[in-house]
Amino acid sequence: MSGQRPLKYLIVYGPTQEPFDPVRYLTNRSTGTMGRLLVQAARRSGHRVTAIQCPDQARTARDLLRQLRSLIGRHDVFIMAAAVCDVRPARVSGSKIKKEALQTVRFVKNPDILRELRKRKTKNQAFVGFALESHALDRNAHKKLISKGLDLIVGQKVSQKIDPFGPVSMDVLLLTPDGERKAYARITKTALARILVSCGEFLARQKASKKA
Ligand code: C5P
Repeated sequence: MSGQRPLKYLIVYGPTQEPFDPVRYLTNRSTGTMGRLLVQAARRSGHRVTAIQCPDQARTARDLLRQLRSLIGRHDVFIMAAAVCDVRPARVSGSKIKKEALQTVRFVKNPDILRELRKRKTKNQAFVGFALESHALDRNAHKKLISKGLDLIVGQKVSQKIDPFGPVSMDVLLLTPDGERKAYARITKTALARILVSCGEFLARQKASKKA
């Protein structure tokens, strides 16, 4: 860290859950591996880390947004590695839904957390997000980078053949809004975590020095 003050990282990871009733919920296959490694890498680099692991510390997208709204202001680097459910059941039943009625459960869209937090983003904060795509990785990741107000996006492919969950090596694409593009082939999540932590540090320090 070359004698500079440690930065404050906010790292969110793991799958959210959206309950239907006291028994069932909607979720996804995220394991939280990438996030745990990011937390480890940031701490090893001497930074201060606030870690939120979903679903244990924030179960639903709305729980998570509520917590992040109050935490975001106190951090320099925000890494959003959570796999947030895009939709939730319109109504959570207090009792177990009967089999027949399950077919008529209606879903509503969840808030996009990054888009919401973007409204509170300060000039010296760096935001890092992820994009998991089956098609047109470059184009879709770039679209998210811009629409979510990110400083860096990590694009990854997912398909029947490419399984990015758990402790695997992956092909990833890093994109920034000023057109930088870097591709890594078969990189481990441990190595990727180190790169992302130092990119976050670089971006936040660059912003702080521009501001001064
Ligand atoms: O739109 P998509 O879910 O593919 O975007 C991926 C990025 O956006 C990830 O960094 C993810 O954590 C974040 N995200 C979010 N709020 C959502 C869904 C995703 O902040 N509701």
